[in-house]
Amino acid sequence: MRLSDLGREAETAARLMAEAARLARSIQVNTAGRATKADESPVTLVDFGVQAVVARRLAAAFPDDVLVAEEDAAALREPAAAALLARVVEVARSAEPGLEVAGLLDAIDRGRGEPGARFWTLDPVDGTKGLLRGGQYVVALALVVEGGVEVGAIGCPRLSLPVIRGGARSEDAQGQALEGGVAIAARRRGSWWMPLDGDDLSPLQVSGVTDASRARIATSVEESHSDTSRLNAVRTALGIQAPPVLMDSQAKHVMVAAGEADLLFRFPRAGYKEAIWDQAAGTLIIEEAGGRMTDLAGRPFDFSTGRRMTANEGVLASNRRVHEAVLEALTRDPRA
Ligand code: AMP
Ligand code: MG
Repeated sequence: MRLSDLGREAETAARLMAEAARLARSIQVNTAGRATKADESPVTLVDFGVQAVVARRLAAAFPDDVLVAEEDAAALREPAAAALLARVVEVARSAEPGLEVAGLLDAIDRGRGEPGARFWTLDPVDGTKGLLRGGQYVVALALVVEGGVEVGAIGCPRLSLPVIRGGARSEDAQGQALEGGVAIAARRRGSWWMPLDGDDLSPLQVSGVTDASRARIATSVEESHSDTSRLNAVRTALGIQAPPVLMDSQAKHVMVAAGEADLLFRFPRAGYKEAIWDQAAGTLIIEEAGGRMTDLAGRPFDFSTGRRMTANEGVLASNRRVHEAVLEALTRDPRA
């Protein structure tokens, strides 16, 4: 399979996420680049720089398409953000020389689009906390049509996949392992891994684990993002001894798609509803790799409810084979 065989949307998304991951990786982040958002999550110049560049490229490729992205430029337009803005401009100009400040702010604000029958959704940095503490983070882009994901692309600046690393292609001329890559999926055309600096595709495939007690779990590093006591109750109910792998961002979804993890849980705290850009790309990448993605009640994801997934509750991703056993444990165990 060649990248162009996945269709124009998927090819564009994969190339864009590779560029965005390389751009993100090139930025020196320090606390001076932080602004504060109402929800207190750290927003760095990486978020703004990546969103500006992706929004401009996407508008050039698909001028009529709507973009629904996590950030907007309101905080950057404040006089107090002048120093941060100057750094964002510098970052964006490394990808697009000559970009003016007004054009940059407008590009970021393209992300204020309304989710409708067809739209793209972007998380310019998923796992900002991971980025800041040296862990995983990704750039995620998905095309949603009539509430379903048609294309999902996740640019992973720091993820290396041992299963793929085994192949000859994953080493450079000096024998150094090449890290980072893009997971790309197009509906009915599979899920693939592509290096950041080329367009060779390797298939992503979920694991063959059928015994739920042997399942490797991936979950958030941030305890505020998923309820640990419910996770522990499910582990007990399923007889899973191994501790979960803690990882930030949709790098977890790529791990499930690649067969490096078998289960992914997100137990929401206090009525939290998932943002579409945190799940859309990962959902298709897991499904096209042979896995299954539902909420904790077993309902398929509905991406037609706006910026938040109000028709769903939490996240359960699996290699498909252990999915039913987990759903059963979730209904059986009152704590889970
Ligand atoms: P993760 O790295 O998997 O924990 O996910 C990071 C994402 O969690 C961020 O992009 C946020 O959109 C999202 N997030 C922020 N606050 C919460 C919360 N209270 N519960 C669940 N997810 C959250
Ligand atoms: Mg996110």
